[in-house]
Amino acid sequence: MYIVKVLVEHPVHALDTTFDYLSEKSLLVGVRVWIRFGYQKIIGYVENVEETHFSKSELEQRAGFRYQYILDVIDEEPLLNEELQTLANQLSRMTLSPRISCLQAMLPTQLKPSTHQTVGIKTQQVVHLVEGTYAKTIKQQECMAFLQEHPDIPVKDIPYSRALLDNLKKQGCIEIVEKEVYRQPFSIEHQSKHIQLTTQQQKVVDGILAHQGRVALLHGVTGSGKTEVYLALAAHYIQQNKSVMMLVPEISLTPMMVEVFRQRFGNQVAILHSRLSQGEKYDEYRRIKRQEVKIVVGARSAVFAPLENIGIIILDEEHDASYKQEAKPRYLTSQIAKMRAKTHHASVVLGSATPSLESYARALKGVYDLYELPERINQKPLPQVEIVDMIQETRQRNYSLFSRKMKQSIQQTIDKGEQVILLLNKRGYASYVQCQDCGEVLKCPHCDVTLTDHRSEHKLKCHYCEYMIDYPHVCPHCGSTHLKSVGYGTQKIEEEIEKIFCGAKVIRYDVDTTRQKNGHLKLLERFRNKEANILLGTQMIAKGLDFEDVTFVGVLNADLSLNIPDFRASERTFQLLCQVSGRSGRGQKQGHVIIQTYNPEHYAITCAAKHDYIAFFHQEMQYRRKAKYPPYCHMVSILIQSPHEELIHSVAIDVKNYLLAHSQQTVILGPARSAIYKMQDIYRERILVKFLHSQDIYEALCVMNDYYNKQQKGKVRIVCDFNPYSQI
Ligand code: ADP
Ligand code: ZN
Ligand code: ZN
Repeated sequence: MYIVKVLVEHPVHALDTTFDYLSEKSLLVGVRVWIRFGYQKIIGYVENVEETHFSKSELEQRAGFRYQYILDVIDEEPLLNEELQTLANQLSRMTLSPRISCLQAMLPTQLKPSTHQTVGIKTQQVVHLVEGTYAKTIKQQECMAFLQEHPDIPVKDIPYSRALLDNLKKQGCIEIVEKEVYRQPFSIEHQSKHIQLTTQQQKVVDGILAHQGRVALLHGVTGSGKTEVYLALAAHYIQQNKSVMMLVPEISLTPMMVEVFRQRFGNQVAILHSRLSQGEKYDEYRRIKRQEVKIVVGARSAVFAPLENIGIIILDEEHDASYKQEAKPRYLTSQIAKMRAKTHHASVVLGSATPSLESYARALKGVYDLYELPERINQKPLPQVEIVDMIQETRQRNYSLFSRKMKQSIQQTIDKGEQVILLLNKRGYASYVQCQDCGEVLKCPHCDVTLTDHRSEHKLKCHYCEYMIDYPHVCPHCGSTHLKSVGYGTQKIEEEIEKIFCGAKVIRYDVDTTRQKNGHLKLLERFRNKEANILLGTQMIAKGLDFEDVTFVGVLNADLSLNIPDFRASERTFQLLCQVSGRSGRGQKQGHVIIQTYNPEHYAITCAAKHDYIAFFHQEMQYRRKAKYPPYCHMVSILIQSPHEELIHSVAIDVKNYLLAHSQQTVILGPARSAIYKMQDIYRERILVKFLHSQDIYEALCVMNDYYNKQQKGKVRIVCDFNPYSQI
């Protein structure tokens, strides 16, 4: 008899304890099992197996409760290898998240311990020849010869009739069997293009290869050829029979990186990202686990891919906010990458044109090795950037969204037959509906936010919950019919552009137009084929795009990301402006950029216009030092949540007092209402803790976390977020 400790996902409580079940047979740690839990039949994850010589009734007598048997075993082998099982436990401790949520984060949906398998394995009928048999007719013999030459060919691809195959089968010459096939997310031609690295690129590659096991920060301006550096590094490790992890921001942003890797390395590449179907993801995951691929290209969660013998882990656009997971477990991808690299004695490369302040500061201190690519390939100049002061425009009575210079430049560019990218900086900004008589703004009744106008569907939607209403005819407050949509959404601007500019054909690239499967690739392909001359989008168009004929980039409202209440606001704005400027003039022709702003003197904007990362870095570091923000300290954000408004503030004060009494050398800010006080009918307050060493605060946070999330059961929950990125 075996006592099996099973981890389950409890529907209500964030439990992190195991439950004991019995099994007649021994089981492997790390497989999933079906168990009875209360009245339900659910899936659990085996954490420990211990043999016992007692019988069931003896055990029950000793324990004082009745044991259940494991109902069924799902997996033949553990879902995660030892490295990843250990990592899951570390992740749970690091982020104060239940272990089950860590396992969930590391596995594709089909293998998560809590879900039912919705997608199975895909199979196909193939033909096997039976040895030592002879066909009768000439036609049959021909067919047999063909099959001999094409082993394992799918039945549907055989150029002989089904009747003929059936006869061969009857005669015992062939067998038709089901064979497992993979669903392939992309079919891209393998092209073994050979590019000679420049001297600078080669120096970077040599340097990184000479320091195995280190973390390298590759700071290279946009268009400096970082991708070729990654490809050369990948090629090196594959030759050494090691595997390679290539991480990119959320894939919809950088479809091109995936393409390049597939072209260069063909079937040796697996792709993992949220745009794949469940079936495709499952198949890609199995190809990795079976060690049929050498390279994984993927977004954040691909850092958990079950690759073995890793030689290098590369994070492109390392500063990107999508590397931070904003749900349990709240991890930072670079941190996981470094942990895995340590286990594998692998190198880590963090690449960016605008590294995060934390990374660049570490590089200057020598914690990371610093590599620079300060010039574009072939000394192509960076685009000329002009700043336009929108206050001056208003003074000159131009109330349009486009300054006069911007209008002129767009028209000139499309007249020359070249292409334009327009960025609408849209963080925390969308069009909403306001009553012209009483000023009432339409809000979500469950969340403390305005409803967003989705014109094409004639609906108003809450972006934080499912709430949605038809576009109202009257103001719910005063009954007036003078309702007006305020603010610019991409859709509204698209309509305006087609009116203002002669010959403008716009492709709108935003969450709405790219939602379909591969929708983003199709739109970009249309832009590349010159079906349009203006690509209009939000933050999504700032990164990774490489179009030869784009010679003008316009930023409509640079300031919106400066005004968000976040200590990274300047950094985000600077990064965004550099990234989007870098889309201009990548081909033969000189690029040009216009940034419209109400803060023409702000260093985030002036430094971006001069492509001067170092100047920005030093200015921003001064601010961070004075205000005591990372990289001068670490931060943890504690969100206190409750559906009971009367409880929330006093609990938040209790949490703060506990932390004050049980931590050293910390600065504790708050509690304050979070930017969105009510979300989905839950009230939210936030405490921010600045600390120097994690041991100064970690124990106290564990106690608070355990107390509210495990013992108190439900009335109040707290969520700790180390390295907080978003503070909604
Ligand atoms: P980054 O990622 O640094 O912005 P890319 O890797 O996209 O830059 O490179 C910019 C352009 O330069 C691409 O079109 C790429 O094909 C080209 N390129 C890169 N390296 C070389 C090289 N060694 N020789 C010629 N062209 C190169
Ligand atoms: Zn809502
Ligand atoms: Zn009104």
